[in-house]
This record gives sequence, C-alpha cells and structure tokens, in this order.
Amino acid sequence: MQYKIAIIGGSGVYGLFKKAQKVPMKTPYGKVENLTRAKHKEYDIYFLPRHGPKHSVPPHLINYRANIYALHELGVSKIFATNAVGSIDTSLNPGDFVIPDQIVDMTKHRPLTFFDGATKINFADGTSRQGVVHLDYTNPYCPKLRAQYIRAVEDVGGMVHTKGVHVCTDGPRFETPAEITMFQKMGGTVVGMTTVPEAILARELKMCYSTLCLITNYGAGIQEKISHEEVVELFKEKTDTIKEIMKKIVSQTELDIKCDCKD
Ligand SMILES: [Zn+2]
Repeated sequence: MQYKIAIIGGSGVYGLFKKAQKVPMKTPYGKVENLTRAKHKEYDIYFLPRHGPKHSVPPHLINYRANIYALHELGVSKIFATNAVGSIDTSLNPGDFVIPDQIVDMTKHRPLTFFDGATKINFADGTSRQGVVHLDYTNPYCPKLRAQYIRAVEDVGGMVHTKGVHVCTDGPRFETPAEITMFQKMGGTVVGMTTVPEAILARELKMCYSTLCLITNYGAGIQEKISHEEVVELFKEKTDTIKEIMKKIVSQTELDIKCDCKD
C-alpha cells in the first residue's frame, strides 16, 4: 500500500526534495504546475510551493481550489502545510513555531468552497458530497496531524506553541496596528494570509490538514515596520530546522493511521 501525503510550502519553503519528479495536473478549477512527487519508503510525498517556485503568486491570487482538488485527484489523504505568520500575542516571538488549533477568517474576496450547489465530489471510498454542504468545523485542523507536528518540532529542539488562533487576512499588504489590536481583542495568536481557504477546502475534500506556522515578525504596531524581506530572511535561517521537521514527519509510521476528523 502506497500512502500519499502532501506538503504545502509557504513563503520561504520552495523545495524540500532533491529527487522530485514534476507532476503537472489539470483540474476543473485550472492547472497546477508547481507540484512535484518524491518517494520515501512506502510514501508518495507531493510537494506544492503555494506561491510558485519563485514566489510569484501573491496570497490573494493563489488558486487554492485547483491546488487542493489536484491533491484530492492524486489520492492524498494528509496535508502538512507551512505558513509564515506574524505574532499578535506578544508572548510569542519571531523564530518560534506555532501549531494552531483554531481559525478566524477575516478574508473577504476568496472562493471559500467547492460546493456551489451543483458540484458533486466523489471520494475513493465510494461516497460523494453534493449540493449544499454545511461541514462541522469545530476542529478546523486535524488533531492527529497537529500532534505529529508538535512532536516533530520538539524532536528537533524547536520552540513550539502547541495551540493558537490563526487569523487569516486577504493581504497582500500587512495589517494596520488598529487591525492587530482588534485581532488581539478577538483572541488571535498569529496572523497570516493563506490558511483560508486552504484548510477549509482540504476538509471539504476529506483530507487531514494541519499547518506549521513560523513566526517571522511581530504584528504591526508591536514592531515598528514589517517587510517581506524579513519574512523570507527568517525562513532562510530556519530552512534546515523546517527540513528536519519534515523528515521527522515523513519518517513517522503513524502517517498510515485512520482519522475521522473530516468525516
Ligand atoms: Zn485527521
């Protein structure tokens, strides 16, 4: 049995495997041309840099539906994402990792679902979803994948916060200090631009999904100014740690366990 997992790389994570094969995909939502596949033991590991291999696609223009649908078509059951985020909670610092357990969706301009009333999605187990679909979203991230991420970061000696509220904005601009203050009052922990709708779409297509957030900066108003360069710079510093974390993830035998988070 070949298990299929996917790693979605955010800002600063553009390549993880040297011997990866390109897997171009066509979906009803558009083409996916950044996808590669590597083999490791009994796993097919798909890698998708969500901003493109050269960071040319901004957060609000990523074709999230095509990306997630392509992984569904390939038979991927588990998605390990990464995100660059800003710290809203000042007790969390740049360089720390966060494995969030909740989402606050502050996006306004993105297609949020596959289910527009007519679309029918078929699953490998013979079931299907169609029409008006209201999914339970009490646990937006898969608890089992979250636990795997937490253990992997601890194993490589990284500083990990084991839960947090991930606020997602449209971007591509960074937030205002007033927005960061509002997110603090709402109970936000970190702010990013890509977990919505990616995590939602993965749940709709019955894939386990969790994300490894690397804090690259404090939110606006907490630090004086924010630049994309500092985000990429911090990711460069942490590239080896992230690769180590991903190695731990793909060597964990529990990847084959069944999970009911998305049923
Ligand atoms: Zn799950």
